[in-house]
Amino acid sequence: MHLIKDNSIVVTKNQYTAEEFIQKKIDLLKDEVEPFYAVDLEDVCNKHIRWITLMPRVKPHYAVKCNDDINVIKLLAYLGAGFDCASKGEIKKVMDLGASADRIIYANPCKQSSYIRYAQEVGVETMTFDNEQELMKIKQIYPNAKLVLRIVTDDSNAVCRFSMKFGADMNTARKLLDKAQEIDMRIIGVSFHCGSGQMTSKAFVDAIQNARMIMNYGNKLGFDMHLLDIGGGFPGNTGTEDYFAEISAAVNQALEEHFPDDGHIKIIAEPGRYYVASAYALATNVIALREMVDSETGNLKYMYYINDGVYGSFNCVLYDHYVPEPHVLTKGDLNEKYTTSIWGPTCDGLDCINKSIQIPKLNIGDWILWKNMGAYTISAAVQFNGLPYGKPIYFMPKHFWDSVKAAFQSIPRKHQVDTCIMRLNSCDCSNEVEDDMLPWIPEDFIEE
Ligand code: PLP
Repeated sequence: MHLIKDNSIVVTKNQYTAEEFIQKKIDLLKDEVEPFYAVDLEDVCNKHIRWITLMPRVKPHYAVKCNDDINVIKLLAYLGAGFDCASKGEIKKVMDLGASADRIIYANPCKQSSYIRYAQEVGVETMTFDNEQELMKIKQIYPNAKLVLRIVTDDSNAVCRFSMKFGADMNTARKLLDKAQEIDMRIIGVSFHCGSGQMTSKAFVDAIQNARMIMNYGNKLGFDMHLLDIGGGFPGNTGTEDYFAEISAAVNQALEEHFPDDGHIKIIAEPGRYYVASAYALATNVIALREMVDSETGNLKYMYYINDGVYGSFNCVLYDHYVPEPHVLTKGDLNEKYTTSIWGPTCDGLDCINKSIQIPKLNIGDWILWKNMGAYTISAAVQFNGLPYGKPIYFMPKHFWDSVKAAFQSIPRKHQVDTCIMRLNSCDCSNEVEDDMLPWIPEDFIEE
């Protein structure tokens, strides 16, 4: 394995865990200690396969805001996913990377006028709204838009709540449909978001039921209500697989009850963290340390300063309520543990990643690995104090990538979802290539 260029992917002969891949990379780095991510693209593929297996009726539209990494967007475009974009910038990025306008939902209920105009120019027709002023604004700018009415949910069990900012309640939703009919705007469906990091499947079930009521009302008014968008909020960290299966089962059952497949109704979702959280492991380096004696216990305690912090990748500590767990990669004694705090590299006292944890003693130059760092990290990071944050390095086993390509390339796009899983399961995985770096082959990602 060599040091690699931006955005290229290490196609490996063997299967590696993120930890093994990081260790391999560190061994090559010697004096270079910049923080980096090991991005496991097989994990992203497997998430997609699991999604379409467990919720075959629900077409995922990846929420780009969660992590707008171009290789993730390209891969998901290749695998047939749609995209939830929140702005002109995201729409442009996704389209520049090869996704067509009909695979995009502009899912921001309150949009800048010029961005609505841009959506019209590039042919993105489907967009959400949740208030009358937005409806009137879209009417003026883009009267042919296909509108999706976002309703409010009970997101009290979510880690990040949105209901205080977005979503029409049931009464308001009915009034908005009346208004849309009066001004001749086209409403095609209902969307909701149960909050990011939603902890109960009941939130989805209740919201699906409410959406049904609003869709019924819309149908009565003469709208062709055929799109249900069940939003994001699905868990993505390693270890949440059973919970995702539970949500999927509850969603499928609620859909069966309230939205039986009549060949016309289309169900989509806007998963963000589900796709990327577990695929990203961050490697940071200990750049400084401070040893102290605890005045109460007399024990040694430590402060470590690492080269990525809350202004960079760890902004998730502030914005996403994340509690990162350090995995130390040190050659020192792993058995004895000390009270420790871990700090980012900026001059700000707020830049603290862990206030008090018990970990082995580290030395300057040791590496710390942080798992489940793909969601709401890079996308909101800045280079405060002129300090870089983790740069992604992608990896995927050659045999896996070959099998994905074989499965997806030979199948006409509209049949892919059903057949690719079978093909992947029966693939012939040969290990013939040397470890090497291969760039994406751009033709692979051009839509048919
Ligand atoms: N859709 C919308 C409109 C959102 O605002 C968000 C997150 O902010 C998402 C989807 C993605 O949510 P999650 O990452 O929890 O799946």
